[in-house]
Amino acid sequence: MSPTVLVVEDDAQIARALLVNLKARGYAAHHAATGQQALRLAAEEHPDLVLLDLGLPDLEGRDVIDGIRGWSRVPIIVVSARGESHSKVDALDRGADDFVTKPFAMDELLARLRAALRRAHPDPGRAVVETSDGRVRIDLADRAVSVAGEPVRLTRLEWRLLEALARNPHRLIGRTELLTTVWGPQYGEESNYLRVYISQLRSKLEVDSSHPRYFRTELGMGYRFTP
Ligand code: CA
Repeated sequence: MSPTVLVVEDDAQIARALLVNLKARGYAAHHAATGQQALRLAAEEHPDLVLLDLGLPDLEGRDVIDGIRGWSRVPIIVVSARGESHSKVDALDRGADDFVTKPFAMDELLARLRAALRRAHPDPGRAVVETSDGRVRIDLADRAVSVAGEPVRLTRLEWRLLEALARNPHRLIGRTELLTTVWGPQYGEESNYLRVYISQLRSKLEVDSSHPRYFRTELGMGYRFTP
């Protein structure tokens, strides 16, 4: 699965240039032309990176940063014509990861994007998680799963849930934390989503999904991945 980038930009021409270039380089991309739309898409689509214009028609870019940072560590690169150092400092203090001033060179922006994605996943030693029986292999860098050597297709949400669990093997992850990480901040109470998706992962990856070994339910609390 290719990384997904959320482009937040109200200038249609710049947005189009960004979307075309991202897609040409194999990224999936979503576009938001307003701050509200950006917050909604960030929560719904869980992009791997956000490119954020600060001057939006409805919200201040800083409010978008605050809104996303309230629940997510997704890398945010601010792309703005406001070159003054105070808006840069403000954006970085609020949790943006990098700042590119318009007009920008596409190659430089894409290099910064790759760097931000690398920093977000800095742990190559843990990039592959394998179950102790060698049956299930989860490649977090390539976003690929196989069972007994056969690739398994997961939906985007199944993958996100598996990734959240596989990055924390043996740790009990609370339901609210999982729901917020996978579905978004407003889904913290939707335990039924978890039940449905955990059972989908079990049926795709467990030997016997009625006696799960890898995806353990901790009653009333959450789930634990025990590879
Ligand atoms: Ca703008």
